Order: sequence, then structure tokens, then C-alpha cells
Amino acid sequence: MSASLPVNTGRRDEVAAALKARLPARCVLSDPEDTRPYECDGLAAYRQLPMVVTLPENEEQVLAVLNACRELSVPIVPRGAGTGLSGGALPIAEGVVISTARLNRIVRVDAHARTAVVQPGVRNLAISDAAAQHGLYYAPDPSSQIACTIGGNVAENSGGVHCLKYGLTVHNVLRVRVATIDGEIIELGSEALDAPGLDLLAVFIGSEGMLGIVTEVTVKLVPKPATARVIMASFDDVVTGGNAVARVIAAGIIPAGLEMMDRTSVRMVEPFVKAGYDTEAAAILLCEADGTELEVAEEIERMSEVLQAAGATAISVSQNEAERMRFWSGRKNAFPAAGRISPDYYCMDGTIPRKKLAEVLTGIERMETTFGLRCSNVFHAGDGNLHPLILFDANQPGEFERAEAFGAAILALCVEVGGTITGEHGVGMEKINSMCVQFRREELDAFIEVKRAFDEPMLLNPDKAIPTKHRCAEFGKMHVKGGVLPFADLPRF
Ligand SMILES: Cc1cc2nc3c(=O)[nH]c(=O)nc-3n(C[C@H](O)[C@H](O)[C@H](O)COP(=O)(O)OP(=O)(O)OC[C@H]3O[C@@H](n4cnc5c(N)ncnc54)[C@H](O)[C@@H]3O)c2cc1C
Repeated sequence: MSASLPVNTGRRDEVAAALKARLPARCVLSDPEDTRPYECDGLAAYRQLPMVVTLPENEEQVLAVLNACRELSVPIVPRGAGTGLSGGALPIAEGVVISTARLNRIVRVDAHARTAVVQPGVRNLAISDAAAQHGLYYAPDPSSQIACTIGGNVAENSGGVHCLKYGLTVHNVLRVRVATIDGEIIELGSEALDAPGLDLLAVFIGSEGMLGIVTEVTVKLVPKPATARVIMASFDDVVTGGNAVARVIAAGIIPAGLEMMDRTSVRMVEPFVKAGYDTEAAAILLCEADGTELEVAEEIERMSEVLQAAGATAISVSQNEAERMRFWSGRKNAFPAAGRISPDYYCMDGTIPRKKLAEVLTGIERMETTFGLRCSNVFHAGDGNLHPLILFDANQPGEFERAEAFGAAILALCVEVGGTITGEHGVGMEKINSMCVQFRREELDAFIEVKRAFDEPMLLNPDKAIPTKHRCAEFGKMHVKGGVLPFADLPRF
């Protein structure tokens, strides 16, 4: 757990006064009672009271905040809904938070072009709600979609259950308007299929608030499929379940969703949600088909055959929309359900080649013994995107540190099998040390140069996502490269 650094009140008053000279007073918060709700994001183990919080109501006010901060050399942390799980929106003691809470307008939905133009603080699900009257929706669906914002999705390149078939945020955003640290507005991408020049939109998406503040987003909308059905398949060990995922894809099927839950997650969620899950199975797979009635019937039949041949011990198929929603409700509520069996949990995010699923899940099982902590696995199996939930009790001395070490060991294993240390939750400050495992110094230096090209004074979300030379050197002293486990100097359990 991190202790909050004290805020320098003299500097706070100076910065708040400069901001209030440019923004209405209601848009600037500096009293600790008002700024406290912003002290953490979804990674609540880390907290820091911000010096000042701003709530701009239009693009001009965003630019005014950036100009004031640049002139006073104040670091800036952008913030959407604060559901991020890697500490990306964690404030800085001497910094200003720019919240997009009041930039929450749907500018327009164009049913003919199948696009929507929205402000950054619009919730992910609100876009689909607005498009529903035209039979359209926005496909990327993070489990947090009821709360998270499109600005946060762009910054994290967020994914979700349906991203296997429909792509991540980067595949569904056409254009962004960005307020830069120089106090200018730039547009990246275009409403056409392609834009000339270097693909800076792809560079920007996933840049975790380090390159600029998103002030408007144009997203693609897709037609709502006529129907969808989901298969729930049980397996008596996770290795067979993991291999079945690879076999579905190898058969040339791209399901609308292909998710896996191990026994710990199933037993954690079933009493809470009553989704009808097989609590005796070692793992279950949820495989969705969507399209016309005929397409869905055919795909469900093919997937059932592949799953049976891959060793499924039971298969049930949703018979109506209510049952489909019930099957998904367990998966969607898995994170909150963790709170029922453990005082705290730590959600990791790493991605591996699908064929390595069985190997990595077995490795995680071994680490449970090594670190003396339980871990449940519920994840986007079709994308190879793991979400191990490490269960711990922060009131037990040393358990949080062990949970962190466990998480870092999982990420090191992901890199070892040819994967990456994130899939959709970003790096933030949570996985910054693991960046030293994933990348060579020269590569990290190149990332810093890209940041500097957008943000010369290095004021936008500094110390997140890209580790400094010093940090990697410090981490290198602890990290056992090529060995089974990092953090060699931590006690073993
Ligand atoms: C229960 C739960 C389930 C989740 N499930 C998923 C999932 O299935 N898939 C997934 O990908 N994620 C998931 N997440 C993580 C999280 O919801 C996503 O990362 C989401 O995109 C964060 O959006 P936000 O609005 O909350 O952003 P914040 O948490 O407020 O910020 C996230 C990052 O974006 C930056 N940022 C925010 N707004 C802007 C802006 N306008 N301009 C520039 N930078 C900005 C911040 O600085 C920060 O670095 C889940 C989280 C929770 C709590």
C-alpha cells in the first residue's frame, strides 16, 4: 500500500488561483474534502491526494488548464471515470487532475455513416444506448462499460468480451480531437477509412494520458446482430479447457466472445449471481455466436463439435435471450464477486499466445503455492488475455507485497512465453517495473522520445507507463532474469 505524500499548500493556493483566473470557480477544486474522491482509481491500493482538481466544461477550458499548468510547470493527470485498474489516473501530490466528468455530451449519431461523435466523458454504454434507435451499437465492451468513459477507453486501448470478433478500441475509433500541452487542438485520424501520413491515431490510442487530452472522439458503430446464443462448456481440468480455446480458433471459427473461468471464479460467482454455472467443473468456457438465425445455428453446431472433440464434459446452449444474459451475468460480475470470498483482490492483466494458455494457467497454479495466496482466473481466452485475480487481505502484514510479487511473476511468465505485460488495462504505475522486463533500454528510450515529440516539457501523466533508466536499474537489482521467479530477495512462502 502506498502512503499519500503531503500537498504543499502554498503551491496549491498559487496554482488554484491561476486556474480560477481562467476558469469559473465551480470548475476548480482544491479543498482536500473536495479532492479526496479523486485520490485513486480502480487500483485502490495506491492513493495520492491531488493538489488541485479541474472540471472543464468545454474544449476552451481544457486548453486554459493546459496553458496555466505549462506556464507554472505543473504536472497534469487526465481522468475519466477512474475505473482504470493500473493506476493510470493516480494523481500526483504537486499535480493537477483534469477530470472529463462534465465533457459528457453525445455530439451526434450519424446512422448513415454508422459513426458517433462524442465528448471524452461519455460512458461507453451510453454510446450504444444512443445508437440503439438506429439498430446500431459500439462494439468494444469492457466489463466496466456502465461506468468507464470513451476518453479512458481511448487512453487504455480498452477491450472486452466482444473484441475477439469486433476488435479493440483502436479498431473502432476513426478520429480523435486532442488538446496538446502547447495549448493547441490537433485532430488525428479521419472519418474516412484511411488517413494520409503516419498513423498517429494508432500511436495515440493506448498512450495512457501521456500525449494529450482527448476532447472529442469519432467511433464506428456496427449493426446489432439479429440474434446471439452462447455455449457453456465444462472441462475437468484447466489444461483441456485452455487447449479447447486454441482448437476453436484453429477450426477457423471467430466467436463473438470466448471467455474462460476456472473453478475458483465459478464457485466465487455462482452463489452471488446464480448464472447456472457448473460448479463441479475445473473450468468453463463461454462461447458466443452472433449473426442471423441461420449463421448462429451453424456456428453453435460447429463450436459444439469442436468443444466435444476437445474434451468438454458437458455442453449447454442458451435457449433464449434471458438465458444468454444469465450465462454472461456471472462472467460480467466476476470481479465484484471476488469481494465475497476475499477482503481484497489484485487484478492482473497480461496477454499470451493462445497455444500457451494451458502452460501459463498451470504455472499460475504453481505460483499459488509459492506465494501462499489464492488466485482465480476469469479472462478473455480467445484473445489470450489473462485476468488473474490474486486474493489477499491487506490487513495481514506483507500480504499486499506478496500479491504484488505474485502479479509481477505472472507478467514475467507472460513475457517468457512470448506474450506481453498488458492486454487492455495499460501499464499505468502498476506495471511500470514489468516494462523493464518486456523491453530493452533502447526501446524504452524510443518511447520517451515519442512522448517528448507530443509533450516537450514532459508534464502529461509523468512517471506512468514508461520507466526511467534509474527505475529499471533499481528494479534490475531485484529481478532474476531467466530464473523462474523475480523478486529473489523477497521471502518465499
Ligand atoms: C469492474 C471492472 C471491470 C473492468 N473490465 C475491463 C474490461 O473488460 N476491459 C478493459 O479494457 N478494461 C476493463 N476495466 C478497466 C477500465 O474500466 C478501463 O481501463 C477503462 O477504459 C478506464 O476508463 P475510465 O474512464 O475509468 O478512465 P480512468 O480510469 O479515469 O483513466 C484511465 C487512463 O486514461 C487516461 N485518460 C482518461 N481520460 C482521458 C482523456 N480524456 N484524455 C487523455 N487521457 C485520458 C487517464 O490519465 C488514465 O491514464 C475494468 C475495470 C473495472 C473496475
